[in-house]
Amino acid sequence: MTDRLDAHQPMELLRQGAQYLAQCGVPDARAEADLILAFVLKTTRDKLYAECDRVVASPEREIYNDFLKRRGQREPLAYLLKTREFMGLDFFVDPSVLIPRPETELLVEKVLELGKNMGRERENSEIPSKVLDLCTGSGAIAVAVAYHWKQAAVVAVDVSSEALTVAKINAANMNVNIDFRQGDLFAPVQGEKFSLIVSNPPYVSEHEILKCPPEVRKEPVLALLAGKDGLDFYRRIAMNATEFLSHEGIILVEIGYSQGTRVRELFTAAGYQTELFSDYAGLDRIVLARKE
Ligand code: GLN
Repeated sequence: MTDRLDAHQPMELLRQGAQYLAQCGVPDARAEADLILAFVLKTTRDKLYAECDRVVASPEREIYNDFLKRRGQREPLAYLLKTREFMGLDFFVDPSVLIPRPETELLVEKVLELGKNMGRERENSEIPSKVLDLCTGSGAIAVAVAYHWKQAAVVAVDVSSEALTVAKINAANMNVNIDFRQGDLFAPVQGEKFSLIVSNPPYVSEHEILKCPPEVRKEPVLALLAGKDGLDFYRRIAMNATEFLSHEGIILVEIGYSQGTRVRELFTAAGYQTELFSDYAGLDRIVLARKE
């Protein structure tokens, strides 16, 4: 920004920062200014307010100013702070990966819940033995699942080697063991079988991508765009998954809120039984498919 950032104390810096972000159209401007200043001062929001008499030194003010400018240009906060919380875990993120979304936490919860039931049905195991995460991106799903199921063998695939670099950092940070493979969808797992295939694939259509908020347009288009109708990946998963699914195996995919019927149809046509689950906002968000 801004020549007007002349304050030296946190509260005034926050007021000025929030005003600037709001002018740039950033939603939740004040909360974001808080998070940015707390990050710059290597503290927490709570402490920032508790220490409101401190004087913020000029180098830190400049860094704050620089972050505000970038956020004002609608760079996502998670890319600025290089972190996003997902399932209570802190994930490293950079612009080569989609930022993990709260909706996707629901997918992980569903996976964990289903896994328990699958384990119970098989009586001899608590968890599905082999899990495949397609289009893993930052590794959020694979890492969260592996974190909760230490004995599961989790394989995670992505076409982008830059994304896999990020995912590997997250697996290492969370101290989980994941078999990462680079390649297009099922290509790197030829001949293998999984009891659970999970995916949050790209699902935005060419038309919708133009209407995404500016922050989303700074995310990798590779992680978002799925052809003319947004269904390309579901089509490919439905058509090809059978040979990679063990007996009684399950597929769980995240979907866009308007895609429920069409995604179910794709799996039904490929011989699966399907169920649809909605998110906390009541929107269709997850499709489960299993062989009839
Ligand atoms: N939910 C994402 C969005 O907000 C899309 C994620 C995806 O394509 N997998 O645009």
